[in-house]
Amino acid sequence: MVARQQNFTENLGELNHIYERIAKIGQDVADKILEIYCLYQISSTLSGTLDLQASVKVFQNLLKDVLNIHAFALYMLDETTHELEYTHGFGFNQRSIHQLLKKLKQGTFQSLVAQNSVSVHSAVLQKAKGNEGLHQMHFDSKGTYLFYPIISELEEPVGCIVLYRRFPHQIAPAEINLLEKVCSQFARVVDKILIYHHTRELSITDDLTQVFNRRYFNQRFEREIQRALRYNRPLTVIMADIDHFKSVNDAHGHFYGDEVLQTVAAIMDRNLRKTDILARFGGEEFVVLLPEIDKQHGMKVAEKLRRAVERYPFPKGAPENQNKITLSLGLSSFPEDATTGEVLLEFADKALYRAKTRGRNRVIVYQKNGTATESFSTRYRLAAAGTRR
Ligand code: GH3
Ligand code: MG
Ligand code: MG
Repeated sequence: MVARQQNFTENLGELNHIYERIAKIGQDVADKILEIYCLYQISSTLSGTLDLQASVKVFQNLLKDVLNIHAFALYMLDETTHELEYTHGFGFNQRSIHQLLKKLKQGTFQSLVAQNSVSVHSAVLQKAKGNEGLHQMHFDSKGTYLFYPIISELEEPVGCIVLYRRFPHQIAPAEINLLEKVCSQFARVVDKILIYHHTRELSITDDLTQVFNRRYFNQRFEREIQRALRYNRPLTVIMADIDHFKSVNDAHGHFYGDEVLQTVAAIMDRNLRKTDILARFGGEEFVVLLPEIDKQHGMKVAEKLRRAVERYPFPKGAPENQNKITLSLGLSSFPEDATTGEVLLEFADKALYRAKTRGRNRVIVYQKNGTATESFSTRYRLAAAGTRR
């Protein structure tokens, strides 16, 4: 009897053990399914969209609905200032967003990047994975924070993900692993999207001056001509060339020449409307496309550009040009001068050539009968200065 009871107890113990093992396997399977589900959700957004906004939304929904995260903040490095900035998130109030940013800027981001893995910080959590380097952080809140640095494929820091649970000790080690995988997948998506947009920008803009490049201009010009033809609208094209630019390079070096190019592009850009298209045509030549603008108004725009460059206080100029930086401009208009892009450009260039031979720093308008006339304000200015030949 005693032996049977002992046998029974042993069997029961074994069953219990098996049950626990099955339960553990069940839990492992559930964890795995959750992981696969999360990773699938994120990676499928990558193939579906190259829109950062949409991808962040998918990530946020996962965090909120599936992973029980109470707050999230995404900080990204601004391309021009190279400073971290808050870009997306939920659950944090303004004060926390600001406080976190301050901490990140005060060295936390640097140590996260050096560590290049997930870091968990809790008010009472002492030995969480990768907690080193974050011990100096003090938050009012008693919750648990998880930090993940976003590092590009080129191994450059891109930004930082911050996740938050309301209570301390709230992120178990198995969960940390899952969150790390989800964050890393999301970070890859963000990196790919940024690379995509950057490459796209590179392919349509000029590296040095940040205005459109010639290839983009040609495509756009074709479309604008078609549009002008279809709706019977005017269009003006301006060719602009920096005067005695070789002399600037020779006297002050190529780097200063580059700076002048950048500044001239920026001045022109500032003096144009959003709908105008400014491109670097090559070397120190720019081209401006003015949709909906006829010759009369185009002349005014060209004159405004000429004057803006002439008035800008460049520290050094071309010795051959009384140490000034000036522009010569030529323009032609659709439909009176020509009805194809190619011929319009050729005529604007002819007018520009006339501007050069007539003494530079002036606007010349192409005229059909072979003469090219100076804009009224150029004539007036030169007459007033007594330099008109
Ligand atoms: P003009 O008044 O007749 O236009 O004389 P110019 O000296 O401006 O014209 P030229 O065509 O003789 O010289 C153009 C110079 O522009 C020569 C070339 O080295 C320089 N250049 C072209 N591209 C760049 C660039 O990206 N950076 C710099 N710094 N210089 C450039
Ligand atoms: Mg030139
Ligand atoms: Mg030139």
